[in-house]
Amino acid sequence: MTLSFKEAINLINSSDEETFSLLAKADETRRKFKGNKVKLCAIVNAKSGRCSENCSFCAQSGHFSTKTPIYPLLSKDEMFKSATDSEKNFHATCFSIVTAGKSVKTDQEIEDIAGVLSAIKSQTKLDRCVSLGTLSKEQIKKLKAAGLKRLHHNLETAESFFNQVCTTHTYQERLATIKAAKAEGLEVCSGGIFGLGETPEQRVELAFTLAELKVDSVPINILNPIPGTPAAKNYRPMPPLEVLRLVAVYRLILQDKDIGVFGGRELSLGTLQPLMFLAGANVTLIGDYLTTKGQAPEKDLRMLADLGLEVDTPSVPRQSSGPLPLAKGEKERG
Ligand code: SF4
Repeated sequence: MTLSFKEAINLINSSDEETFSLLAKADETRRKFKGNKVKLCAIVNAKSGRCSENCSFCAQSGHFSTKTPIYPLLSKDEMFKSATDSEKNFHATCFSIVTAGKSVKTDQEIEDIAGVLSAIKSQTKLDRCVSLGTLSKEQIKKLKAAGLKRLHHNLETAESFFNQVCTTHTYQERLATIKAAKAEGLEVCSGGIFGLGETPEQRVELAFTLAELKVDSVPINILNPIPGTPAAKNYRPMPPLEVLRLVAVYRLILQDKDIGVFGGRELSLGTLQPLMFLAGANVTLIGDYLTTKGQAPEKDLRMLADLGLEVDTPSVPRQSSGPLPLAKGEKERG
């Protein structure tokens, strides 16, 4: 069943009593396309803080005063270790290198990230993803050649609400990066953050935009208010059943795509967290988020086992093992 815009609006506005029959429909659709498999993404905050942009929810924007740590790009060893730790300790299936900022500033940074992607490709089974802001065609090509499989670039919210969330760049710029990645044959992971004051119609508007763009994976984040950000001042918690209706409607609109529930799930869903999978999610983020703590990975793995769900195994076979290859001129540490 694919939904019309009007049907989606009616469903997202369902009453609490009607929510469980909506979840049953979404669960059926998830099972049809994803069986009982769940993907686990892990991330490293590879460069933090002092961002030139003013996204209203973000702890890393240089426009707001928050307690988020500020540091330049991590070393290749640190990024690589974070990837192997998340595979070994958390059973992650996909790993993303995430940097704060509108775009990556230097060629050296792209070189370093490409080096880490290539090591992850050859030495782990992890799918490889990056989230580096706006990227040029050349940068995308370079990263793809190094082993990048998927680009993460959230649209954040509906186009009709974007100027309430960010005024330092445009929605069109975000769309252009997604289209450039698709044109280069990369998979795209793009979703948004909810609970910023957008209407139910705007939540549906974003889902239809993502469907039109044919993105492969859609992360749903629910606002975790960070003191010092404008979004925290106007925070209105989304009730758990409202979050579940959102996830279910996204599953019914996006059908066979990966749908993840990521940041803010612990806070917004509380005791109903396991129901995110019954609402249609087949992906979640394991370990810590960019600037906030996630729940213990053991708890997530236990939740999946209790629900009878299995961790999806990555598609790329491990080819070799060994230390991260050193760049030209780099010395082995003693
Ligand atoms: S969401 Fe990204 S672009 Fe926006 S302020 Fe945060 S780091 Fe910068």
